Amino acid sequence: MDPALQQRLRTHLGQKGIAVNAELTALLSKQNTTLATLKLPQERKPGMTRIERLQLFLTHISDAQKRLGTEAWGRCATCGGPISEAVLIETPWQSHCASCPDD
Ligand SMILES: [Zn+2]
Repeated sequence: MDPALQQRLRTHLGQKGIAVNAELTALLSKQNTTLATLKLPQERKPGMTRIERLQLFLTHISDAQKRLGTEAWGRCATCGGPISEAVLIETPWQSHCASCPDD
């Protein structure tokens, strides 16, 4: 991958992570609880709370940060097929191709 693009995506992921984390921290402080005391959701469910969705999103961002610059980057986590670069530029935390369900 083009190093300049990789750097741009890394910055994008970092900024998104900070934004999601800030929102999550604000919600948790209202609940008088912390990240450590809340269980991470294993799967996406219709009844998920905003906090659960943010936690899951944060996990996706963190996973994408680990994949960026490795062989796994841009590959679907389920089928191993390519994820389009246009999709990755828009949503670099995307871990599945268009044919595979996310999670
Ligand atoms: Zn796939």
